[in-house]
Parts: sequence; structure tokens; C-alpha cells
Amino acid sequence: MRLSQFFLPTLKETPAEAQIASHRLMLRAGMIRQQSAGIYAWLPLGLRVLNKVEAIVREEQNRAGVVELLMPTIQSADLWRESGRYDDYGKEMLRITDRHERELLFGPTNEEMITDIVRSFVKSYKQMPLNLYHIQWKFRDEVRPRFGVMRGREFLMKDAYSFDLDEASARVSYNKQFLAYLRTYARLGLKAIPMKADTGPIGGDLSHEFIILAETGESQVFCDKDWLELDVLDKAPKSPEELQSFVDWATGFYAATEEKHDEAACPVPADRLHSARGIEVGHIFYFGEKYSAPMNATVTQADGSVATLHMGSYGVGVSRLLGAIIEASHDDAGIIWPDAVAPYHVGIITMKAGDAASDAKAMEVYDALTAKGFDVLYDDRDERAGVKFADMDLIGLPWQIIIGPRGLEKGVIEVKNRRTGQRDELSVADALARVGA
Ligand code: ATP
Ligand code: MG
Repeated sequence: MRLSQFFLPTLKETPAEAQIASHRLMLRAGMIRQQSAGIYAWLPLGLRVLNKVEAIVREEQNRAGVVELLMPTIQSADLWRESGRYDDYGKEMLRITDRHERELLFGPTNEEMITDIVRSFVKSYKQMPLNLYHIQWKFRDEVRPRFGVMRGREFLMKDAYSFDLDEASARVSYNKQFLAYLRTYARLGLKAIPMKADTGPIGGDLSHEFIILAETGESQVFCDKDWLELDVLDKAPKSPEELQSFVDWATGFYAATEEKHDEAACPVPADRLHSARGIEVGHIFYFGEKYSAPMNATVTQADGSVATLHMGSYGVGVSRLLGAIIEASHDDAGIIWPDAVAPYHVGIITMKAGDAASDAKAMEVYDALTAKGFDVLYDDRDERAGVKFADMDLIGLPWQIIIGPRGLEKGVIEVKNRRTGQRDELSVADALARVGA
């Protein structure tokens, strides 16, 4: 992509309303624009990252054997009356009346709708277990939308739902999601800590929140430092037994929110205890028959008896993740994207506008990288080099290739690594190799 033909409305000034780094940087880098409180337009650069994050979330759900569908954003109030949540949900729910005076709502979550879909098609134990997900916009009329996409009112969520015959089988579905979550965050370049969460009146220990550490997190959390050193991507449990041992191992590390942390009873010695602010980027939950019982989601078993389905739900804040990634990975100059979600892998800058040799070399590098399947952003604008450097650092592409007349005379171009800041003068061939091409 040539920057002159792209739409990248970067801002020089720091927007006054943005209190945290990710919000500031997403606005400044031309990724999002606020349209109403907590409601954002995704500008081209932001959308590219959102799509990449979404793709990783999707791949890991598919890998875990969860099947994608797509439910609408608008739901009928009647479904929510069946579960009893229409009145309970309160003011966070955006309620809508259509021209026929029918009551609708913009979905804040989808337990009721998925239960309705499953109960209408699934009648036999032979169709169990069933694991479904979708990635869809949600609306919650948050009291205090803030921090940009971190706590929006309209936001993108991956929500999955599991249906099983009994609790033992539901635990397998839960464990598969647990693994998928850790893999997803690791692939996004994030260290997520699973923390036991409240299960409410249902009880049991099958609810975990996944927390990313960042200074601007909304809550204080504590964890065993050892967890932060681990790599989960090298673990590949397959059988239900292996999966259970994996979950037991991963949940064996101490981790607690401020409300749950008790210094006196903490099993981790003080020097191994890490305390930091945390951001919730996912939540998984087994809740048994909470929706299936009132909504009559049942199947006939082999012996002819009727079983009420055991359900779980599994949410990832897809749009919130962009904020979380930036909180975890930025510096004073701007964003530093992990490779896996970078909007472009390489940015090319020509230092002297109108220099024919530089332009030609830039196109040569651009074509070579594009031919190898790399996403490249070529800043061909008629701007001062300083402006281009600042914008390129701001949008945080992993690699920059800088081309100028002085280097070309020596037969070299410059390669800069955004994360380390290291710059090297290299031949074109070596420069391509350096960025991985
Ligand atoms: P929170 O305590 O932050 O309000 P929640 O418990 O309401 O979260 P869930 O209902 O479990 O969240 O939703 C699943 C995921 O969706 C959360 O883990 C979070 O990452 C994301 N999420 C929830 N609310 C918002 C929001 N207002 N804006 C962006 N993402 C959100
Ligand atoms: Mg909430």
C-alpha cells in the first residue's frame, strides 16, 4: 500500500480526552475515531489490526473444535424473558421498540439466543457435545465508557457456548477453551494469567478470567512470578486426561485479584509474588443448567430419559485486546506491534521527496517484499523526512526501511527494528533478509 493512496489520519496533538496510552495512541495513529461516547469508527489502520486479532482468535477456536456461526446483533426481548434476564440485566441493556411495538434489544451477550437455536434443532444425546462460537458486535450501555476500546459501549466479542450431556463432559469443553485461550493470548504476544473467578450461586470452580498485566489496568492483581516465565505454545495436550493435567498445572500457579488475595494465606513467598494492575481480556464460565433449565434445552438419552443440557460460555474481548496489546507494547514514540498483529510488516520511507533514484529503489524493495507475500506500507508522501519518521514510529510497524540519496551512493539502505531501535545500513539483499524476506 502506498501511503499517498491510503487513509491514515494521524494526529500530531495528543487528544485531551484520552487518559491512557492505548487510547491516546489509537487516536493519534489514525486507527479509530469516536462517533459517540464509547462508540468508535474503525479507520483503515485500526481495522487491519482488528481483523488480524480476530483471525487469531478464530483460528484457535477452530483448532479447539469449536464451530463458527453468526447470530444477529438485534434480539427479541421475549427470549430474555424466558431466562428471566430481561428485567435483571438493568440499564446496561439497550432496549429498542420496532414499528410494530415489538420489544427488541441490541445483544450484550448471546446465551439465550444460542440456547434457543440449539433447543430447536438438537433432540438427541447423539448430537452431543456441541461447541459453537461467533464473533459479533455487542452493545452494553456502560455507565462510564472510557479508555477508548477498552471499555466501549459497542465492542467486538468472540463468544462461544458449550452444550454437554453432563458435568464431566462439560469440563472437557471447558478445558479445551482454557487451552485455546492461553494459546490465543500467547500468539498475540501477550502474557495472560488465568485467575479463578466467582461462579455465583452455581458454585464449583469452573470460572476463570484471563488477565493481562499493564500499568493502566482497572484492577490490582497478584501472581506467581514463575507463571510469567512460561511458554504455553509448546504444550499440546490431546486426550481429555492430558488436557485435565494441563489445566491443573496451569491453574496450580498462584494468581488472585485484590478482593481474593490474602497476604497471610498466600502460598507464594514474597520474593516470588508479583503485584500489578490487570486488564480482563477474557472470561470463561461453566454454569450448568442456568439457561437450559428455564428455556427447556433438553435431549433424549439412550435409555429414553430426558437430560437437561449443561452449558458454558466463553468470551474474549476482541476489540479490547487491541488496547491491551498497546498497553503492553509501546514507547514514547508510539505503538510497537507484535509481528502477529502488525497492520503491515514493513514500512518504507524515502528521505528526500522527489529524488528519482530513491523512489525507484523504494519501488524495487516494495515489489520484492510484496512478491514474497509481505504486507508493506510505502510512505511516498511529499512530506519532510522528520514527519515520515514520526508517523512510522507512531504506527509501530515491526520494521522500517529507510532510503536516501547518501546511502544509495554507497549502495546501502537502512533497516530499523521498531522494538529495539537498532538501525543498520545494508545492501538491498541483506535488508530483505533482515526483515525476514
Ligand atoms: P468487565 O468486568 O470488564 O465489565 P465483563 O465481566 O462484563 O467484563 P464478559 O461479560 O465476561 O465481561 O465479556 C467477555 C469479555 O468481553 C471480557 O472479558 C472483556 O474482555 C470484554 N468486554 C466486556 N465488556 C466490554 C466493554 N464494555 N468494552 C470492551 N470489551 C468488553
Ligand atoms: Mg461488564
